Amino acid sequence: MVSPLHQIEEDIYQLHIPLPFLLNRVNVYLVRGAHGWTIIDTGLNHPPALEAWQAAFDELEMMPESVQQIILTHTHPDHYGLAGWLQARSPHAEVRLSQIERDMANRVWKERGERDNDVRDQMRKSGASDDLSTAIISGISSTRAMTFPHPTCETTIAPGETVMIGDRACLAIHAPGHSDGQLLFFDQADGLMFSGDHVLNKITPNIGVWFGGNPHPLPDFLKSLRSLRDLPVRVALPGHKTLIEYWRKRIDELIAHHDARLESAYQAARHGANAHTVAVTLFDFSRLTTHEMRFALVESLAHLDFLVKDGTLTVEEQDGVWMYHE
Ligand SMILES: [Zn+2]
Repeated sequence: MVSPLHQIEEDIYQLHIPLPFLLNRVNVYLVRGAHGWTIIDTGLNHPPALEAWQAAFDELEMMPESVQQIILTHTHPDHYGLAGWLQARSPHAEVRLSQIERDMANRVWKERGERDNDVRDQMRKSGASDDLSTAIISGISSTRAMTFPHPTCETTIAPGETVMIGDRACLAIHAPGHSDGQLLFFDQADGLMFSGDHVLNKITPNIGVWFGGNPHPLPDFLKSLRSLRDLPVRVALPGHKTLIEYWRKRIDELIAHHDARLESAYQAARHGANAHTVAVTLFDFSRLTTHEMRFALVESLAHLDFLVKDGTLTVEEQDGVWMYHE
């Protein structure tokens, strides 16, 4: 087996954790410090992920007692799903994340607050067929099954707080859009940013209207990107794909991507369309599983919402479906 562990700085390792999705890998980080290890993000609980973690523990000769803390950038299942498992094997490890994300994890994963009926309602209003809604809901429960056991998270991290990650003093930065309470961690002294899923190479972070979350995520995302653009980032360590060496350029590309997608969404909806019709125009549904179709739908909703909010489009409910038009 090729090692899933890659040393990227003297004290930082990137570990590739397999995912059972089209996006087939999440990057998590292990940071060595004088007082032990910090783990950033975790993976989903399924056998290939546990094998990757075991390979990392073996290769680094990492004792369970030496894990000091587990930090989560956000609580999407691919980042959150093994936090409880790692905490259970690490007697001294605290799990830390933002308050918003902790509340969301409790609601969505622990209390199962994202009820099937709420999701079905959102899908129906988006114009999805009953078959697609049913398939999406069954996908959610199989993903939820890969988030057990759940961690206990007693201390949260406030934006603006300085957090020791290994021996690095990192500023916690609130970066909403992809997930409402996502935190990035910036080691200003070294120009190194743990960028979660906020800034990614090769793919664009999913910006979606999720049931129970921020109903207007895209303006917040773009505002956040603009506020981060001029930070002196030498290298960013993202949750997926490759390291980001051209921070400002990548942010400019992401902003341009959403400008273009807003234009495409406008063209698709201006004469009257529901979100599903717009999603099928923006994304190649023949390549997608139902898991990704849901992402395509919520991403389309985010763009349509942006256009409604800025007055370009209007929306009204017709026969239980949101219809957009100029
Ligand atoms: Zn995510």
